[in-house]
Order: sequence, then structure tokens, then C-alpha cells
Amino acid sequence: MGVSIKNIRKSFKDFNIDIDLEIGKGELVTLLGPSGCGKTTLIQLISGIIPTNSGTIHIGSKNVTTMPVWSRDIGIVFQDYALFPHMNVEDNIAYGLKARKTESSLIKIRVTEMLELVHLTGYGKRSISSLSGGEKQRTALARALAPSPLLLLLDEPLSALDAKMRTILRREIRSIQQELGITTIYVTHDQEEALSISDRIVVMNNGRVEQQGRPWEIYNHPVSGFSADFMGESNKIPCTVEEVSESDGIALASVNGDINFRLPYRNKIKTGEKYFVFFRPQDTEVLHDGINRTEANLISAQIISTEYFGRYLSFECSVNNTIIKTEISDRQVLESKIFSPGDRITFTVNPERCWLIGN
Ligand code: ATP
Repeated sequence: MGVSIKNIRKSFKDFNIDIDLEIGKGELVTLLGPSGCGKTTLIQLISGIIPTNSGTIHIGSKNVTTMPVWSRDIGIVFQDYALFPHMNVEDNIAYGLKARKTESSLIKIRVTEMLELVHLTGYGKRSISSLSGGEKQRTALARALAPSPLLLLLDEPLSALDAKMRTILRREIRSIQQELGITTIYVTHDQEEALSISDRIVVMNNGRVEQQGRPWEIYNHPVSGFSADFMGESNKIPCTVEEVSESDGIALASVNGDINFRLPYRNKIKTGEKYFVFFRPQDTEVLHDGINRTEANLISAQIISTEYFGRYLSFECSVNNTIIKTEISDRQVLESKIFSPGDRITFTVNPERCWLIGN
């Protein structure tokens, strides 16, 4: 068993956390959610930094619910490194082993192993102040892993680093985690980081689990507007169901009737019901000759603004004050005329890639 969190509750004056979560042995689970949703609080509860009001926490087969931090068999890496500034790199890494009264010859071997694992061989005698941010975080990771904990907790470990170093270290952390097979809980508010590093993502909202699943499940099948919004750009158009037919699918119209969707048939959906139609900007296809077409899932809009991201050009457009995001690939930018704010743009939405969420 990895970690079992059963009915954990914690109440602060204006915030309650209420979580049930099982994590498999060797699994990397990411807690993802906006600022203030309770990610750090949950990490503090698991590590014992703060006590729970009720519920139980097992790490492996051990019930650690009331155990102090140091006896829980956990390694923790924080966003701000939290290294001991007066100690050099190897003394930082050796810290947990010395606290456990490990024999000094074994400490030496383990520190050498850890320096190699995090690609800091030769850095042992360096002072902490002489390290770059990435090197500090590698040291913090080595320090957390040196005592061979059962569980590794990483609380926004890459937030203080620049974009390039974040990508490099993210890959290194994942590769080390897989090599060691260590059960890991990783906290981030960055959805790209969560998608790329995780075995499973737990989306948190206001102290609760909103949704959990494999990265591609969460991205492609968000169960709520909150999950959809949080997992990357999406469009959310309030619509009413106009017709449901097994052969022709579901017809929906936006509130003022400007946008019509025809989506694949789904039972349980009834005429007159109201839903949000969600779709991602990349699931649209911009047409260069579509101005006079009228089929369903075809949207004609006015461009409000454009943003170029290198791999694609994104448009924010308006259909009578309903804002919709669409995009074209960089290759299409080169092949087509440049679209500018004020221009009209026509695009279709892939019906297979739309999902309905109740309101
Ligand atoms: P961030 O991404 O900004 O770090 P988070 O998801 O980690 O946010 P938490 O730090 O867990 O969120 O905070 C969740 C809520 O609990 C916040 O509203 C915070 O103000 C509140 N909170 C946390 N610790 C305490 C405390 N000791 N006393 C009172 N409220 C607290």
C-alpha cells in the first residue's frame, strides 16, 4: 500500500478541508488546484506539520495519524528549498541520516549516491549560497531522499525556477521517482506540469477533491466546469436543448440563438434542458471560405484580440458578446492571411470533442 487518507478533516476559521484519497505504491499523484484550494494544508496534514480534526492517514501499513513529523518516514521538498544555509551541500544531504544516528561510513556512501542521483557529483563541499536555484532544489531533493523515505512530498518544488529549468528538473524528478519507485505526492497549480509528470491528477476545489484520474482522462473528460476551466483553455457556451434524436443527435442553441450545435446522441438528455457546451480552442477548425455557410457547429465571429504563442496563434472572438477562443497552428498562420482584430472569422467545432456540463 502507498498512502491511504480516510475522511481527513481540518477546519480553520474560514476554510474546511475534507478529503478521501488512496495512493498506490510507487504512484506519483499530483494535487492540482488554484491558490487557496487546500493543497499545502493537505500536505501539512499528511506530513504531520499540522494535526487533523478527524480521519486517519496510513503510510504503507503504518497508521501515522497522530505520529510526529520525524517518525512518519516522509521526505519533503518545499518551493523555497528550506536548506540549512550554514551547512554545505553534503551536510545538508546527510542531515536526516545523522539525525537517525546512521554510521558515518554509511552516510558517506549514501551522500555520494545521492549527489550522483541528482547530478551534483563534485558539489558536496559547495556552500548553499553559491548554488543556482536548480542546484538548490536538487540538493533539497537529495536531502529528502537520503533516508529512503516511504513517501516523498513535493510542495510546488519548481515554482521559484525559470521556465527552462522547470522543464529540465520536472523530467529529472519524474525519472528519479520512477527509478526509485517511491510513492510521491506532488503539489502544483500549473496544469501543464501536472499533465506531464503525473500517473494520476487530483483536481482540488475549495478543500475537496473535484475530480481525479489519469492526465488524459482529466483533460479530455472534465466532469465539471471547474475542472474544464482549470485544465487549460476551454469555451463554455450556455445553451438550451432544442431536439434529441437517436439518429440525428442533439441540437442545441445558444441563449440568443446565434450559435447552433449538433452533437452526437446521448441518452438522458431532454429537450428544453439547459447545459454548457464546452470545447477547447484546438478543437475548432478555422475556415477561409466559410462566411456564407450555415451548418450546425459553424460559428462566425468578430476577432477581438490575437495572441501568438510560437506553435499557434490564438484568437479571442465575439458572437454578440459571447466570447469564444479559437486558434490556428503556426503552419496555418504562414499559409493564410494574417487575421487582425476587427476581422470576421468563421470556424467549425468538432462535435465529437464537445461535452455538456449541467448548470
Ligand atoms: P497556494 O497555491 O496559494 O499555496 P493552497 O491550495 O496550497 O494555496 P492552502 O495554503 O492550503 O492553499 O490554504 C487553504 C486555505 O486555508 C486558505 O484559505 C488559507 O487562508 C487557509 N489556511 C491555511 N492555513 C491556515 C491557518 N493556519 N489558519 C487559518 N486559515 C488557514
